[in-house]
Amino acid sequence: MGSEASARGLLVVMSAPSGAGKGTLRRALLDRRRDIVFCPSVTTRKPRPGEIPGGDYLFVSEDEFERKVRAGELIEWARVYDHLYGTPGAALESLLDGGYTVLVEKDVQGAKALRSRYPDAVYVFVLPPSFEELKKRVERRGTESPGEVGVRLQSYAEELRQVGHYDYVIVNDDLDTAERKLEAIITAERCRVSRNLGRLDVAAKEAEAAGVLSTSGRVDEKGRF
Ligand code: ADP
Ligand code: 5GP
Repeated sequence: MGSEASARGLLVVMSAPSGAGKGTLRRALLDRRRDIVFCPSVTTRKPRPGEIPGGDYLFVSEDEFERKVRAGELIEWARVYDHLYGTPGAALESLLDGGYTVLVEKDVQGAKALRSRYPDAVYVFVLPPSFEELKKRVERRGTESPGEVGVRLQSYAEELRQVGHYDYVIVNDDLDTAERKLEAIITAERCRVSRNLGRLDVAAKEAEAAGVLSTSGRVDEKGRF
């Protein structure tokens, strides 16, 4: 284990009821932190005004999406609100191998699918301060028809039931406060013993070389040597 385990990046999976502000939160944090990256999903949804192709999503046709599914390029995918969304496996793996902290945004089914593949990832649920405020935010965003807004608000209760599957909840009331909470979660998770085995290995070897410690030669996944 040792150094390879700690060189791997941290995966942060974020879910939220549509309109709670997870995209806004993610953009605010990424503007400040160059060591944190976003791995965009592939979708058949059309870009919203201001969304950057390749930045927010990889926008593709239904045919191209189906080709990716057949080619095994998506490690999970789902139909959400009439559009297809999926996680490109190669892009995600290459960012994690690069040691980055990688944010992804998934619906509750996508987060569940990733949980079995990435049990070490951190799962964060973003809540709106109230249902009233959620409704206002979706309507103010103005990117969905009244019918689509209705469908999204209807899903809220079902999504709330899934919060127990997540590790952390952030209430996105004041944006700055929510951003600081997300940053604090990432900082704490990066300090876990299990993510710092490489550093422990170096410290143990150094102490051994100095003659003050004798080890079994390797650090295990709990940091024992
Ligand atoms: P999501 O990605 O969760 O669907 P968005 O990031 O698109 O949500 O945000 C939905 C709307 O709410 C946007 O118009 C955004 O500007 C607004 N918004 C997001 N966070 C806040 C906040 N903390 N306070 C007020 N408005 C917010
Ligand atoms: P939106 O269209 O509002 O950007 O996203 C709709 C929903 O699809 C959100 O809950 C978002 O998190 C989710 N979503 C985005 N990408 C993926 C993905 O790759 N897989 C799954 N399962 N859900 C996704």
